[in-house]
Amino acid sequence: MARKLDKIVVVDIEATCWEGKAPDNMESDIIEIGICLLDVHSGEISDNRGILVQPERSVISPFCTELTTITPEMIEEDGIPFKDALKILRNEYACQSRAWASYGAYDLKQFQRQCSALERGYPFGPSHINVKTLYALKQKLGHETGMAGALDQLEIPLEGTHHRGVDDAKNIAKILWWILNN
Ligand code: AMP
Ligand code: MG
Repeated sequence: MARKLDKIVVVDIEATCWEGKAPDNMESDIIEIGICLLDVHSGEISDNRGILVQPERSVISPFCTELTTITPEMIEEDGIPFKDALKILRNEYACQSRAWASYGAYDLKQFQRQCSALERGYPFGPSHINVKTLYALKQKLGHETGMAGALDQLEIPLEGTHHRGVDDAKNIAKILWWILNN
């Protein structure tokens, strides 16, 4: 149960990817954890950062760089081990006692898969908010729509670079704030 409901942790990950399925000897790894806090009273978005993470079971393909703009050099320079990134989520964002939100179920599933495969503790509590589903329900769309499409419908400018976790997290927080307020 979420015990700290003053702020919601909004998360958007980027991961190693390929055009089609992963090569036989690789598994998709998280390479960026975009995160911010959304204050449920004021709508203030704070503590927005993109934590670059070293992939342990794969390398960044040119396709992945094209999609995310994240290069192997950026990870070499600023990437930290997955376990240290999880520590930041727990210690600096209190992810275990807050509700957390992401756009769709992908981020939740990837964290579950990767934590389980690498034998790391899952950093979040049980209260996950799927903003993609919530937005579709709120707008009575009858189907889910992508983040960029939702921003477009709400006439909220897409800030920063789409497919960079740091920016996606902030844009998702704005969609969630709209849902909470309307
Ligand atoms: P997003 O939050 O939409 O930027 O996507 C999160 C992750 O999903 C990306 O970092 C990729 O690993 C994967 N992904 C998103 N779109 C694609 C795509 N068109 N092809 C392959 N992988 C993708
Ligand atoms: Mg993203």
